[in-house]
Amino acid sequence: MKRNILSRRDFLKVSGKGALGLAIASQIACDNFDGIPESAWRDFANSLQGILLRPGDPAYPQANRPWNLDYSGIRAQAIALVSGPEDIKKSILFAREHNLPSTARSGSHSYAAYSSTPGLLIDVSNMNSINIDNMDGIVDIGAGAALGSVDNATAPFNLLVPAGRCESVGIAGLLLGGGFGFNGRKFGLTSDNLVQTQIVTADGELLNCNKNENSDLFWACRGGGGGNFGINIAFQVQGHEVTTASVYQLCWNATADLETVWDTMQNIAFNASDDLTMRLGIEISEDGPVTGSGNVSIEAVGQLFQGTASQLREILEPVFNASEPESFVIEELSFADATKFLEEDATPDAFLTKSAYINGPLPQEGIKKMISRFSNQFWPNASREGTFKFFSWGGQYNRIAPDETAFVHRSAAFVIESDASWHVGDPQSVIDASRDWIQDLFDDLRFYFNGSAYQNFIDPTLEDWELAYYGANFPRLVDIKRKYDPDNFFKFAQGIPVKL
Ligand SMILES: Cc1cc2nc3c(=O)[nH]c(=O)nc-3n(C[C@H](O)[C@H](O)[C@H](O)COP(=O)(O)OP(=O)(O)OC[C@H]3O[C@@H](n4cnc5c(N)ncnc54)[C@H](O)[C@@H]3O)c2cc1C
Repeated sequence: MKRNILSRRDFLKVSGKGALGLAIASQIACDNFDGIPESAWRDFANSLQGILLRPGDPAYPQANRPWNLDYSGIRAQAIALVSGPEDIKKSILFAREHNLPSTARSGSHSYAAYSSTPGLLIDVSNMNSINIDNMDGIVDIGAGAALGSVDNATAPFNLLVPAGRCESVGIAGLLLGGGFGFNGRKFGLTSDNLVQTQIVTADGELLNCNKNENSDLFWACRGGGGGNFGINIAFQVQGHEVTTASVYQLCWNATADLETVWDTMQNIAFNASDDLTMRLGIEISEDGPVTGSGNVSIEAVGQLFQGTASQLREILEPVFNASEPESFVIEELSFADATKFLEEDATPDAFLTKSAYINGPLPQEGIKKMISRFSNQFWPNASREGTFKFFSWGGQYNRIAPDETAFVHRSAAFVIESDASWHVGDPQSVIDASRDWIQDLFDDLRFYFNGSAYQNFIDPTLEDWELAYYGANFPRLVDIKRKYDPDNFFKFAQGIPVKL
């Protein structure tokens, strides 16, 4: 079951280049909010049940670190490791009183580090309890829980909460912006399965949100994006009973006919039943895949929900006929083991990610353009890795009306994620070349996309992000924002504003 292709983040782990404390080349923001007396900080710290970290505390560097190390220069004045709604209320009131910017953090995976602040960071990661109601399969998840712990807690009950592919991602950021993974074609987004949530709003009030109570806020919490409306403390999510799945991982290196591979695989995914899911990715890395002779490779990974290995092999047969993989795994596993197989092992690094949705397979001409961007002719050599990935969409994702929840993307065939990553400490010229590379790739392919982008693959360089993330739901989100946070306390560069 060993993976043959090292992902960007796997490589970082192996090479040890993710070490903390390295200089960050860009995005240094270190405001100093003078004038808050030490006694005020002390009183605030003493009033909390949780812990207040200040710069200089041994635990501060780790707690302050964002997932995207390009933003490590943003240093919070203090980090409140809150233990419940009262701590959150006190933190909000303290930030208001001292005019400090403030933001919530759960798993810290925001691609643009929107859970970092030079003010007061309100970190919910200690609020991570998970309780399962065996009768109705509802899983009560603390806002600080990571996806891996949700999977571990539900597996013994043969329950599944549809979510993402990386165990360290926080439930809060993921769910509030949608949340897709290898089970979503069958069961929908994480946010589609939300039954109820509790949130502390900008005035410190704790509200319960469901279909009957604060239903407008409940609507917004299902896809309206993290960090916008308040600080959620817990989510009650519908779990689903599961037993087995067959998983697959197919790999090709640069010697294969990559255009044929891409075309065949995307069509398998596009025409499949809801039981089949796929992540189809092409990658170029400075060191090359461990399997290949060149430094470009394609990997397809996914599962057939409750199907046998031979059924899965039959579905994948067209690609074996068209271009035999260099290596492959196809096997039936318990659901828990299948989830582990599909998990993406990841560590923080420095990168820019872009996303898009596409309503059908990429046409031949588009595949050609896309693959050519992965040739050495275009690749900025000193960068660490570039990827372009299709995740199969459709199925249950598209059976929900675009305005039923705040999550609007309900007509696509694939969601696309592409990233360029570089070494922490690389010269600015290398970072710029990496950023240009991914922008050029997207400019080449824009014509084929449907104009939307995934709000959880948040992209600080995206223009017209309001429309791209939220489409026709944006004005309603603005109304709800104005109602619950009229003076825009929860504010960030791509945050929902209080007026259009
Ligand atoms: C390695 C990796 C793998 C990923 N895989 C997937 C995937 O498979 N599927 C998928 O859909 N997405 C995936 N994502 C994207 C992920 O969903 C987003 O990055 C998400 O925002 C991360 O949430 P977080 O809690 O970890 O991050 P954070 O940075 O803590 O939070 C993200 C946003 O939510 C806000 N927020 C945090 N906690 C709260 C709270 N309690 N209440 C209100 N707002 C809050 C923050 O202020 C910030 O704006 C992945 C990301 C990474 C880095």
